[in-house]
Amino acid sequence: PEVAALVAGASIDVPDFPKPGVVFKDLMPLFADGAVFRRVVDAIVAYHGAGSFDVVAGVEARGFVVAAAVAYATGAGVVPIRKAGKLPRKALSASYALEYGEATLEVHEDAFVAGHRVLVVDDVLATGGTAAAALELVERGGGEVCGFTVLLELGFLHGREKLSPRTVHALLTV
Ligand code: IMP
Repeated sequence: PEVAALVAGASIDVPDFPKPGVVFKDLMPLFADGAVFRRVVDAIVAYHGAGSFDVVAGVEARGFVVAAAVAYATGAGVVPIRKAGKLPRKALSASYALEYGEATLEVHEDAFVAGHRVLVVDDVLATGGTAAAALELVERGGGEVCGFTVLLELGFLHGREKLSPRTVHALLTV
C-alpha cells in the first residue's frame, strides 16, 4: 500500500480529546508498528533526499521520534525543539496559539550552525501555530529551513496557510 494509506490505517480517531468536539488523531499505533514506521521514515527521506539536510529538528514530543529516526537513517544530527522551561541553557522562545490554548516552544540559541540545512518534522499539522513557531525558531537560530514534513495534515484547519510562503510536505492530508 501507499504510505498515505499506511498512515491512515495506523491512526485512531479519538472523539472528544482533549476536549469535547475535538477528534484527536492518535498516531501511537503507527510508531508501534515497525514495518509502518520504517515506511514512513523512508518516505520522508526519499521525498527530501538523503544528504539534502544537515540536521533534523523535531517538535516535542512525537516529533522527536520521527526526527531521531530520519536523522539516524541519513547520518544527520537531531535538534529538539522543546516546550518551555525544559532546556538547561540560554534559549530562544516563540509563543503561539494552539488549537486548544496557548504554548511556547524553545530551542538553545546555539543549537544551529549558521547555514546548516534543517529539515523540520512533527507528527501532525493542525492549526499551524506549532509549526509556525518551530520554523521561526530555526530561522532565528541561524538555521536554513530546507523542508518541513508532517505525517498527517488536518487540511480542514488550514494550518498550511499560516506557514505561507513556506511549504509543507504531508504524508497524508485529511
Ligand atoms: P497546531 O499548532 O494546532 O498545528 O497543533 C499541532 C501540534 O499539536 C503538533 O505538535 C501535534 O503533535 C499536536 N496535535 C494537534 N492535534 C493533534 C491530533 O489530532 N493528533 C496528534 N497531535 C495533535
